[in-house]
Formats: sequence, C-alpha cells, structure tokens
Amino acid sequence: MGNGSRLWGCAVGAAIGDALGMPLEFGPRQPPERLVREMQPARLPAGTFTDDTEMALALAESLLAHCPLDPADLAERFATWYRSGPADVGIHLGQVLRRIAGGEAWSAAVGAVQAHDPEAAGNGSIMRCWPVALAHWNDLPALLADSRLQSSVTHPHPECVASSALINATIYFLLHNATPQEAIAQALDTVRDLPPGLLQAVTAAPGRLRSELKNSGWVRHTVESALWGLLTTHSFEEAVIQVVNLGNDADTAGAVVGALAGAAYGLDAIPQRWRDALRGELPWQRGRAWRTEDLAELAGQLAGHATVEDHAEDWANG
Ligand SMILES: [Mg+2]
Repeated sequence: MGNGSRLWGCAVGAAIGDALGMPLEFGPRQPPERLVREMQPARLPAGTFTDDTEMALALAESLLAHCPLDPADLAERFATWYRSGPADVGIHLGQVLRRIAGGEAWSAAVGAVQAHDPEAAGNGSIMRCWPVALAHWNDLPALLADSRLQSSVTHPHPECVASSALINATIYFLLHNATPQEAIAQALDTVRDLPPGLLQAVTAAPGRLRSELKNSGWVRHTVESALWGLLTTHSFEEAVIQVVNLGNDADTAGAVVGALAGAAYGLDAIPQRWRDALRGELPWQRGRAWRTEDLAELAGQLAGHATVEDHAEDWANG
C-alpha cells in the first residue's frame, strides 16, 4: 500500500466516520444483529459530515497558511466558523468561541471558560485533530507540539491535550507502517504524560465489552471507543461500523476511529459506496461541495505531495 493511500485514508476516513455516525448521534447502542452499515439520512442528507469535520477543515486551512500552527490564526478561523452559523456547536466550544468572536484573545477566552468549569474535558479537540498529524507526518516533535496546541486553543484540560497528542502520535506510527497494536504501543511510549485515568482507559480499551462502552462526549470515553474499534477489528469498515453503532456521541467517535483506521488501512480499503456518498459544505464557504476527492487532495496538500513522493523510499525502508 502506498503511503499516499494512508494519508488520504486518514482524511477521508475521518469524514466518513463522522457522516456514518451522524444519524446515530444521541441514539441508543444498536443491537449487534442490527448494526447500521450504510450511510443514512437524518437531520442531514445521507453521507453528510458534521461539525467534527468542519472544524478539522478549519484547522487544515490554518495549517496550510501557518505551519507550525499559529494559535491566533486558528482561533480566528474557529470564530469565523462559529459566526457562520454551523448546524452544531458543542456547549463548551460555543462558550469559548462566543468570547473569541466577540474580540477576546483566545487564551483569555478559553482561560475564563475553563476556570468556570475546571473539570470540563470534552471530545471537541480530538474530533478535529487529524490534520496536524498529516501536516507533520514526518516530524514527530512538531506533530506532538501542534497537537497539544490545537487542543489548548479550546480544550486545555490535561486529558484533552494529552489525548490529542496520543491520537495523532498513533496516526503518525500508522502512517509509518506500524500495525494498530504497534502504533498504540509506540504512541504510549512517546506521549509519557497521560493522566493516570486516561492511561488506564487506553490500556483497558481492547479488552472492553461492547456493552460497557458509554461513548459519551467525555474525551476519555471517545478515546476508549476509538481504540477499542481499531484494536478489535481487522478492516476499516468493521472498525467504523462497530464504533458508530455504540450510539450516543457516534459521529465524533466515528470521526476519531475513521482517522485512525483510514491511516491503518489506506484509502483503497474504504468501501466505495461510502466514498461515493460522502458530502459536506463548510458553513463559511457555502455553495462549495466537499467530496471524497477534495478531502484526499487536502490531505496531499497538508503533507506536501512532493515530499511524500520524495520520501517513498525512506518509508519503504522503514
Ligand atoms: Mg458532530
């Protein structure tokens, strides 16, 4: 499998997991014999991605303009997204972005909101973190620093920041041809500051029973669901199906496992019927339809196409 295929698979996989989870969001866990396996319409047409991917694309635009990441530029792009009236905004995110959109510096805005609720540790920064992994696919220290920074702009809780680093480090090792088990072990060796409760959840994830996974909006639950999906299945399709059918925060867990499984198995392993169905529109860019090929092209831009080709031999040699 070409490395380009893994880079594309990460971006397309995240959006597909989001879209497949969209109709299952806030719903119950589906019975094992009646798992949803097709894109279905709900509040949005079948195949449509949601805020998770919209915010990832805002982060991607910011990285294409400034790499390493400029947090002020990112905050402004998130504020533009917020002002453009997106269909969903998480509660915590809305509180931070309302302040930034009103003119506060991002650090003051997020500091005030987090001070009001110091335990807030939602999954809003890991749902969108994958563009950092693609932009820094060949520079692990920069990947870790920008993964933490992109979380800190809206989600500074230590579990959110460490989770963003862990998910993107896992993507990094997957892009460098590690198996899912190897990639997570290497990511845990790299991100050494996981808070104990999060570390315990990560270590226990592959042994959890489906019926135990709550898949709430808590970052720890999303990491747990996504790693469980990646580690207990053997294809992109099964990983994503298993996770979105947990219900509850299905689209966000779907986006996270989709990015991981897309990096693990590559674009070619993503079912064609899902690739054909994928669609979305950015609320700050109305009228432009985003499809699978646009996400793949963006992944190439983030990674620098020429660079991927130039390093093909290094990749092959490990
Ligand atoms: Mg969503």
